[in-house]
Amino acid sequence: MQEIGDTSHNSVAWLRNLIEKFAVDWRQSHETPDYWRSPLVGVASAEDPLLGELKRVVDPKHAMPDEILQGARSIIVFFLPFQRWLAEENDEHGTFAAQSWAHAYITTNQLIGAINEHLQDRLRDQGQQAAVTPATHNFDQQKLVSLWSHKHLAYVAGLGTFGHNHLLITASGCCGRLGSLVTTMPIEATPRPASEWCLHKAGRRCLACVSKCRYGALYKTRYNRQACYRQCLKNDAHYSQLPLVDVCGKCACQVPCSHQIPQVPGQ
Ligand code: SF4
Ligand code: SF4
Repeated sequence: MQEIGDTSHNSVAWLRNLIEKFAVDWRQSHETPDYWRSPLVGVASAEDPLLGELKRVVDPKHAMPDEILQGARSIIVFFLPFQRWLAEENDEHGTFAAQSWAHAYITTNQLIGAINEHLQDRLRDQGQQAAVTPATHNFDQQKLVSLWSHKHLAYVAGLGTFGHNHLLITASGCCGRLGSLVTTMPIEATPRPASEWCLHKAGRRCLACVSKCRYGALYKTRYNRQACYRQCLKNDAHYSQLPLVDVCGKCACQVPCSHQIPQVPGQ
């Protein structure tokens, strides 16, 4: 859990408290299963030079903060980590994603939308503006890349480092979902990790994620985005009674980085 320090109205701790309290109330009022652990929050300056790199690394059309909100000063990124039992069920379920995993995906997206609205209101209370990405900036269906990549923004905001499984490994692992919004409020940026958290990227033995992918998408030396998305769409078809649920997540479940920064063996 992130440390609670400065809780003034323009701090990460203030935001984290707002999100955590709101998520608990929302879960109770919506009577959802207990899907989430404590949220993590990171903040990036809207002027962080690394943001310009997203046009090269993700897509030339990746949005910049001032395209989302004029006068943007900060990007707030939050991570809602899943409970361990969700990953256990998804891992044990066989070829398709577990129904609980699919349902948690849908419910978490609803919660993220509600958190965004709540934060917008609280920031407005402080005389600040906030905005979330319009749908047109979300996903390029041909290239299968996001034009406002929460994952890359989370990296810029110091929430973690990329795993070999192409997910962001946070201090609470990679099982969970990210949300973000842009605000005019100046908030101190959170520092980025100083080293790779993925064991393989740090030169240690792992690749547990590769052995979890039985869909021709994740290998030791490459990642086939199209094959991954095909499997996600198969899960969507499998759960056709649910809203769009293009998920899989097997490479995130029951691996060393599922719920924490992976431990180096023997340490
Ligand atoms: S399972 Fe191992 S190699 Fe794969 S992302 Fe996690 S730490 Fe990295
Ligand atoms: S999400 Fe599924 S298909 Fe995609 S890389 Fe992970 S295990 Fe493979």
